[in-house]
Amino acid sequence: MTKDIVAAGGTESMLAKKRRARKINKVLGEFYPYAHPELDFRNPFELLVATVLSAQTTDVRVNQITPALFARYPGPQEMAQAELPDLETIIQPTGFFRAKARNLVALATRLVDEYDGEVPASVDELVTLAGVGRKTANVVLGNAFGVPGITVDTHFGRLTRRFEWTTSEDPEVVEREVGELVERKEWTLLSHRVVFHGRRVCHSRKPACGACVVAQWCPSYGMGETDPVKAAKLLKYELAPGQEELRAAYLAQVDNAAEIRMASQRALLAESVS
Ligand code: SF4
Repeated sequence: MTKDIVAAGGTESMLAKKRRARKINKVLGEFYPYAHPELDFRNPFELLVATVLSAQTTDVRVNQITPALFARYPGPQEMAQAELPDLETIIQPTGFFRAKARNLVALATRLVDEYDGEVPASVDELVTLAGVGRKTANVVLGNAFGVPGITVDTHFGRLTRRFEWTTSEDPEVVEREVGELVERKEWTLLSHRVVFHGRRVCHSRKPACGACVVAQWCPSYGMGETDPVKAAKLLKYELAPGQEELRAAYLAQVDNAAEIRMASQRALLAESVS
């Protein structure tokens, strides 16, 4: 393995780092043309609620309960009037359900009282809602309103430190430093691509370096398995061994990837309960 560009111990110029970051973004974009938010939603309110619920749990788990949740409480008006025990029962599988239920009722009440039942489209207003921090605000802005935003979650932080785009553990610093490297219009998709790569290839404990499409531009190449055959076995979701059909379906219908994923999740769920 040869590396075109190596960010050796802080000697890389800002220009070289920008070029490398943009190259990684481009290659990830070509590899995951179907990258999308992994939370299911139909409008800004649903995305806001789903993102609040996703704290300390997985998107898959949130997606399992949101159909029932939004059937019962389709909008802020209904959720503002929810009885806490009823709401808690529905969202219990997402963990921390008492605090989350209180936040959702408070958030919905504020939307009704202050924003005419609409979700506001600015970070400054969104972060005044209960349970909403910058990460949630950026998810909502980027994906429900088309305002470019960098979403720093655990995967994004880990990968951008491995890419040496930042050294910070502080999400706000990571957001700012990565934002200086990549064009603003790319921010939302960059966030999805990096998170996709973190979930599938560059895992926290066992990164699959030998099966990584950006290995050539990654200063951390070699921190995980470099043997291509062994690394391929570490891949997950549609890249996992035996999932070639799912990946082919994603690639063939890039615009419908979210629907295909939901269908495959439902099939997995049906299998797990049968
Ligand atoms: S080369 Fe390894 S450390 Fe770098 S992004 Fe790929 S899997 Fe992660």
